[in-house]
Order: sequence, then structure tokens, then C-alpha cells
Amino acid sequence: MLDQFKGLFSNDIGVDLGTANSLVYVRDRGIVLREPSVVAMEAGTKGVLAVGEEARRMLGRTPSSIVAIRPMKDGVIADIEITEAMLRKFIQKVHYRKLISPRIVVAVPSGITGVEKRAVKDAASHAGGREVYLIEQPMASAIGCGLPVVEPAGNMIVDIGGGTCEIAVISLSGIVVAKSLRVGGDQFDETIVAQLKRAHNLMIGERTAEEIKFRIGSAHAMDEELNMDVKGRDMNSGLPRTLSVNSVEIREALREPLEKILSSIRDTLDQCPPELSSDLIDRGIVVAGGGALLRGIDRLIMEETELPVHVADSPLTAVAEGTGRVLQEMHILKRITSSGQS
Ligand code: ADP
Ligand code: MG
Repeated sequence: MLDQFKGLFSNDIGVDLGTANSLVYVRDRGIVLREPSVVAMEAGTKGVLAVGEEARRMLGRTPSSIVAIRPMKDGVIADIEITEAMLRKFIQKVHYRKLISPRIVVAVPSGITGVEKRAVKDAASHAGGREVYLIEQPMASAIGCGLPVVEPAGNMIVDIGGGTCEIAVISLSGIVVAKSLRVGGDQFDETIVAQLKRAHNLMIGERTAEEIKFRIGSAHAMDEELNMDVKGRDMNSGLPRTLSVNSVEIREALREPLEKILSSIRDTLDQCPPELSSDLIDRGIVVAGGGALLRGIDRLIMEETELPVHVADSPLTAVAEGTGRVLQEMHILKRITSSGQS
């Protein structure tokens, strides 16, 4: 294209509409937006006040006239209008008025319904999309991790996000077996809150629990276990108190949600056609999503499945990178979205 005309055209856009984080990829520019999937609204009118990082800072700190929510928290759309507003704002942040509007690819949790898919498509059209395609997050994640999904061979992805864990075996650009469960990083945080409450009478918030998970959380025994001082409120005295917490105790607390993920991985392998199963013996499983960053998650899954397990190079951006790659190779897109389009 002649350079002087380039500015008239918008570059195509890929969106990862995650339960915890949303990312926007612009063709030829890469990932340009990365913000929490949070919306702050006026309580009565539901007028949107802020989205993304700005809205997240309000979570748990709002006066009664303002509510801050995560509309995708459970991997299903809690409120279609709010999700639409959030998606529109994110797209508008990166897309300025141009003569030719962009193609938009949105990666959505595989658990959302047909009505919800329609709403997401409409929101992307209203935000300026000339053509809008939806792809399922495990597919985008696998592509973003560089798995050769078009080959006639088994590729397995486990994407552990905030509200969901998406597990899929993909071959010939299609999902052969898939599971989507509502277990992810949020549940890890919740069990940490519950553990400190039960064992130590210490109340902490979910932000603190997430911090504990980042700093000393693990899925598998470590060579050197870690300690951390945690500040919270004593439930008996009502006063602030500091407690030293050990990584072994946190791992115990994480066992239950991790066990649910392992059991879904086992079920997926159980339902996998034998030819594809045998491919997995060499190719193994790739783990992505923020949950892939939990220490020892690869070792845990490896011991459970006896398959090689690799953590994605960039777990938090895999889905967005996947949408970007799909934009570059529209022929793949046409194949993988044909079944999901209305
Ligand atoms: P989603 O795709 O559902 O929006 P993400 O893939 O962005 O979710 O992952 C978000 C989750 O990953 C959060 O629960 C967050 O706490 C968790 N996470 C991010 N970094 C780490 C880390 N270093 N260790 C453990 N969990 C992490
Ligand atoms: Mg995700």
C-alpha cells in the first residue's frame, strides 16, 4: 500500500476478552492495551464511569453510589450491557476514526452462550468493526503459544485464567475435546482467604490473598519453602495483626482447586481419540494463562499425567498473540470460526 494512504486505513484488531484481564492486539503494532476486565458504574443508572485499570482501583473501595464489577468473572457474561460497554471502550481506546474500519477478532470464553456471542459481536460492530469474528479462547491460546493447530495431530492446551480453566485438544484447526471449568486464579485467592480465616482467625482481602499467591504460592513442593508476613484483621480483637505464613500451608489450601483442574485434565485425556492421545506422548501439554505462573504447576500436571508439560513463554499474552496471528492469516480464521458464526 502507498505510504501516504496508510493512515486512512485502520489496522485489524484482536481482543482477548478475559475473565480477569482484557488485551487488545493491533495488526502491525502488537499488544497495545492490557487492562483488568473491570467496569465501574453508577449504582442507580448503571452509567459507566470507568473501565479497566481505573475501574479496578475502585474495586472494594467504592461509596454506595458507585459499583465496580468484573462482568466476565465466572467465564459467562454476568451482564451483557456492561460487557458490551467495556468491550466498546477498549476497542475505542485503540481505534481512531479512519476511512476504512478494521476487522475485529474477539476471543471469548468457550462457556458463553449463543445470545452472549451475539451481544459480543454487536458490541464489536458498534465499536467500528467492519467484519467481526469470534474465536474460542483455548484455540486462540494454543495458536498464541505457537502450537501447530492446523496439523493432523493432537495439540493440548490448558489455559488457567482468573475465573475459568479452559482445556482443549486441537487437531486440523478444530477442537476435538474441550472442557471449561469455573476454577482459576480467583478460586486460588478465595481458598487462601478461607485458610487464614479458619486456621488463624485472620481476615484478609482478596488483593492480599493474590499477593500471597504471587509471592509464596505453589502447586508442588519446592526445594526451599518460602515465608511471608501477612497483614490482616484479627477476627477476635478486631485489630490489625501481622502473621508469618509459610508456603507449605498455602499449597495445602490450593490443593482443592488444583485437584479440580487435574481431574478435568484426566477426563479430557480419557475422552481423547487414541491416535491423538499417542501424539500427546511426544508433544505433551502446554499450560498458559496467568495460572501457568503458579510455581510448580508444570511439575504437578506432569506427575499426574506422565506427559511432558511446558509452560508457555508468555502465558498472560498467549490469547491476544493468538488473535494477532489469526488476523495475519485470515484463511485460518475462516476455518476455525466457520462453525461458531451466526
Ligand atoms: P483471564 O484470561 O481469565 O483474564 P489471565 O490469564 O489474565 O486470566 O490470568 C489472571 C489470573 O492469573 C489471576 O487470577 C492472577 O492472580 C493469576 N496470576 C497472574 N500472575 C500470576 C503468578 N505469577 N502466579 C500465580 N498466579 C498468577
Ligand atoms: Mg485468558
